[in-house]
Amino acid sequence: MLELGTDEFAKYPFLEGAGKILKDKGFPLSQFGTDPDLKSVVDKAYHRLKVSTKGGIYKSEIINGEASDSAREKEIFSFLLAIVLLKLTGMHTLIKRFALAEARRAENHLEKDLGKASDKSKIDLAIRIIYDLFNIEVIKEDEFFKIPVSDYLKHSTDFHEREWKLINRHVEGGKVLLTPDKTVRLIRKELGNYIISKITNAPTPPMISGLENIVKEFTSIGKDLTPSYVVTSGEYPPCIKHAIEVLEKGENLPHSGRFMLATFLLSKGQTVQQIAPLFKNAPDYNERVTLYQLNHLAGTSGSGTQYSCPSCEKLKTQSLCFATAECDTIINPLQFGKKRQ
Ligand code: SF4
Repeated sequence: MLELGTDEFAKYPFLEGAGKILKDKGFPLSQFGTDPDLKSVVDKAYHRLKVSTKGGIYKSEIINGEASDSAREKEIFSFLLAIVLLKLTGMHTLIKRFALAEARRAENHLEKDLGKASDKSKIDLAIRIIYDLFNIEVIKEDEFFKIPVSDYLKHSTDFHEREWKLINRHVEGGKVLLTPDKTVRLIRKELGNYIISKITNAPTPPMISGLENIVKEFTSIGKDLTPSYVVTSGEYPPCIKHAIEVLEKGENLPHSGRFMLATFLLSKGQTVQQIAPLFKNAPDYNERVTLYQLNHLAGTSGSGTQYSCPSCEKLKTQSLCFATAECDTIINPLQFGKKRQ
């Protein structure tokens, strides 16, 4: 069990023990809706949530700087109150966005802590967090971090870029050598899932008098962000079904996967407006950029050329192919389900 103080909880407020700090203060949740002294915490929680709904990462002005205990407590309480507000909206889309944004934020801190060559306590803390949450034993050696090959393979299965293939990594004595950023990148998905499960498993409190309007506002934002158009994937090839599932889970689909999905659906006659909502759950969703890119692929902007869906061979090299027997000998996903002449 980690022994943490407010400076660590301010960076990693999802860790066990953060709630106790609030409890020890003796503030009931109802007080946040009425007490003017707690208004700044409510404002911070609101801001924290708002940033995550736009796909951004909340930046604190006190982390890594001199700050009083009360400023750090405010930081922790704003995270806890944001969770309460999320629970009151009941919007899973918002929970996912918030969890992913907070995971990215924690990732930045873990990376910085691991990279602090002169501060052993910070490095030890980051290593302990990774071990306690994800059971990965990280050992520091010179400027690298070593993790067992089995853990590396387990946690890198969703990484399709070449650099993550084991053959392209430096391996010594059954351990993979990683830089601080790569070490942390490896647990990004798990960190997000960990925060999602913490929020999902937290009890939903009764409505807090005085905060109804904030809850109403975020419920409405959550409804707007929930895809209203769901593509029926029944007749689609496995690669396309997989890409849709990744997006529906709010996980990151690589650029090559987005290109495949968009060009496939465009070739099937779907419009840019029909396809765009599929990307709403992507952690880095931006409506303007998504529409711009889709219009570009559809040939309705830019050069006017409509891009084609890549071949199965190309998709295999991009680790986007999930062939089943039904794929038979087709050479392009667009041929899936069609009888050969
Ligand atoms: S064989 Fe082609 S259609 Fe089938 S999953 Fe692979 S890329 Fe998709």
